Amino acid sequence: MQRPNPDEDPATPPTGTGEFEAIDRLRMRFEAAARARFPEGELPPPGETWIGDDAAVVTPGGSGPLVMATDLVVAGVHVDLGVCSLDDVGYKALMVTVSDLAAMGARPDYALVSVAAPRGTDLEALGEGLAEAAAETACVVVGGDLSEGSVLVVSTAVTGTLRPGPVPVAPVAPLLRSGASPGDHLFVTGPLGGSAAGLRLLRRPPGDRMDSGGPTVVEHLARAHRRPRARLDEGEVARQHGASAAIDVSDGLVADVGHLARASGVGLRLSDIPAVEGATVEEALHGGEDYELVITTPDPDRLVAAFEVAGLRAPIPIGRCTDRPGESTVDGEPTPPGGWLHRF
Ligand SMILES: [Mg+2]
Repeated sequence: MQRPNPDEDPATPPTGTGEFEAIDRLRMRFEAAARARFPEGELPPPGETWIGDDAAVVTPGGSGPLVMATDLVVAGVHVDLGVCSLDDVGYKALMVTVSDLAAMGARPDYALVSVAAPRGTDLEALGEGLAEAAAETACVVVGGDLSEGSVLVVSTAVTGTLRPGPVPVAPVAPLLRSGASPGDHLFVTGPLGGSAAGLRLLRRPPGDRMDSGGPTVVEHLARAHRRPRARLDEGEVARQHGASAAIDVSDGLVADVGHLARASGVGLRLSDIPAVEGATVEEALHGGEDYELVITTPDPDRLVAAFEVAGLRAPIPIGRCTDRPGESTVDGEPTPPGGWLHRF
């Protein structure tokens, strides 16, 4: 875990919580959250080792392939600590990685969480948010690392598996970005732009937030930004019922659907992009961080019926894939450029 800081005067007792004390408290939180996955019996289950040894030992669920994803949340880059509390940061850090599994039609099993934080950071609050996301997604945090750092960085790595559907198809395969074909129908699992609109409102003084709607709308938008939900059920049902490709909306709809189209070698005709109440069209197209899924399928009726049977919100049609790679229109007009891109 953490190396000693050579600049630290050994005569001065360090401020803040000690590393091992902090790890112990986090371990208890994560073990409590693990009850979402293991409601009964001892924890860790026999044969497994979680936080506390040099490495974690787990039993992969199912017999299919292992699906893995990792993501970084850096304060000041991915998250504004002026508008998000530390428990929001913890929640979001795990949820966005789980969202990448949702986009493959997978379910999370285990996570490793590494944190670098300035001295005095409230690790309890961060851990609370992480544990909340872990419990909601039945993902067990089994290890990680903790270090002092000049800026808050939370790295989460998640493993997951693919569950066979009610009508098992062999072999069970993930949803890839590259699976779409010309003619496939495009759907999104919910209206977009909520996260970007939430951030816009939260950066204003509280008295100036109401022009996007009443308090309920403002609260909904703020929540969309602070507490996005990975669409695990939607991704899984889509994979089990004939979907051809999927991606989660992290960079912005236009950017993400563009990744999917390029990987699949198809063009895009988008239309009627749904915006969350209080969000602008620009925010719906380019805002990002909504973590809804874009799903393609050759059989739209089957997808809609499967969502209904599963009790999920109806997927919203947003266009078709075409046989002209590079083509991209929204309501008949060339797609406006935008979206989030890291520059190095
Ligand atoms: Mg993604």
